[in-house]
Amino acid sequence: MTSDIIRPEIQALASYHVQNATGLIKLDAMENPFAFPESLHAGLTHALAAATLNRYPSPGAEDVKRAIRDAMDIPPELDILLGNGSDEIIQLITMAVAKPGACMLSVEPAFVMFRMIATFCGLRYIGVSLLTDFGLNLHGILGAIEREQPAVIFIAYPNNPTGNLFDRASIRKIIAAAGKYGGLVVIDEAYFAFARESFLDEIATHPNAVLMRTVSKLGLAGIRLGMLIGRGDWLMQFDKLRLPYNINALTQAAAIFAMQHYDLLLRQTEILKAERTRVSAHLDRIAGIQRFPSEANFILVRVTDAGQTFEHLLSRKILVKNMSASHPLMVNTLRLTVGTPAENDALIAALQDSIRS
Ligand code: PMP
Repeated sequence: MTSDIIRPEIQALASYHVQNATGLIKLDAMENPFAFPESLHAGLTHALAAATLNRYPSPGAEDVKRAIRDAMDIPPELDILLGNGSDEIIQLITMAVAKPGACMLSVEPAFVMFRMIATFCGLRYIGVSLLTDFGLNLHGILGAIEREQPAVIFIAYPNNPTGNLFDRASIRKIIAAAGKYGGLVVIDEAYFAFARESFLDEIATHPNAVLMRTVSKLGLAGIRLGMLIGRGDWLMQFDKLRLPYNINALTQAAAIFAMQHYDLLLRQTEILKAERTRVSAHLDRIAGIQRFPSEANFILVRVTDAGQTFEHLLSRKILVKNMSASHPLMVNTLRLTVGTPAENDALIAALQDSIRS
């Protein structure tokens, strides 16, 4: 009987829900809406065809790391660990610190996988609510750190689902507070390409902080590749938990090729940043919509009735994410991924109609 064998906390979980997007304009999952640049198709095909499929892939994927290091300017004093998406890296870190009684701390609302993976690995999860402007409740977080001594703290910078960058000085205080007992802080920069700021230039100066990134928001969500960047003493420990061939040969080949053309991917990102500004300006002109500032490739809005607006958008074949039920601070909010200019036009028109009707 599953009920006898499966851990009760797993039985109580709901699977991570992915909405069906068939036939819809997909603005629900923070993907890059642009296909891989056409000018690179022949090169990519060649790189994939040259991949060795009959052998296991390179276990350390050193060529991929080198390509990432060059493209993202990762300094030589920092090591890189690769994961099958950054989801896998969250899991590796959490497994490594899962001593009996250990806990994980993050903010709420945050990326849901932090909490889920804490549960997978048997850690207690402490979510400290953000303030109503979605800023960090520093006092609350520092109190919880002192009280609970979390083994690991995840902070997304910018945050998902709110889109804002937290105060940098506050994050430094969190790192220092955790450092007093050796707790690890993971700065999750999944949306770094869309933000003005990064911790990359200072991560080596903190003995108890590491940085996580992903190529998912750069137009490569399909290849599943995330990375942890940090000091060798931490990464060496996490690497022991990594399954030997976690980055498959096709992903390795595609990633090396894509990193050699990183500038083209960044150009797509620039278009999305300009679209974020344009869409924001339109949203601000729609009465009944409150828009929150975003440094990511999505925009959080509050409407009068999120369920109704969600259904209206769906009737116009547009899929967004209704965040209302996720946290009390998220009541009547929708998370809108920035799409192509045409998709964004459709979204704005449908929102204008929805508020009018
Ligand atoms: N961190 C944050 C903050 C995210 O929003 C996401 C994706 N939604 C991830 C990590 C996971 O990214 P990946 O596709 O690399 O697993």
